[in-house]
Amino acid sequence: MKCRKCSAEIADKAIVCYRCGTPTQDLPSVSGPPPRSRRSTLLSLVFWLLVVAVAIAIYLYAASKQAEYTPKVKLEVPRYKLSAYVDTPA
Ligand SMILES: [Zn+2]
Repeated sequence: MKCRKCSAEIADKAIVCYRCGTPTQDLPSVSGPPPRSRRSTLLSLVFWLLVVAVAIAIYLYAASKQAEYTPKVKLEVPRYKLSAYVDTPA
C-alpha cells in the first residue's frame, strides 16, 4: 500500500510509514495519549497546587514570625522609656 501522506510504497502490515512516520490507519492508540496527557495535566495541577500551598504556608509562617517579633519591639520600647522616666526623678 501507499503512504497517504508521502505516497511511499510501504508494507501492508506496516503501522507507520518508514519514511515520514505517518500512521497508516487511525489506530485506537491514537486516542490513547489524551487520557495520559489529561492525567499528567492533573498531576501537574496537583503539583502546582502543592507548590502554591507550600508557598502560602511559608508566607504565613514568616508572617506569624514577623507578628511575634513586632510586638516584642513595641513592648520593649515603652518599658525602657518607663524605666528611664522612673529612674530620672529618683
Ligand atoms: Zn510516508
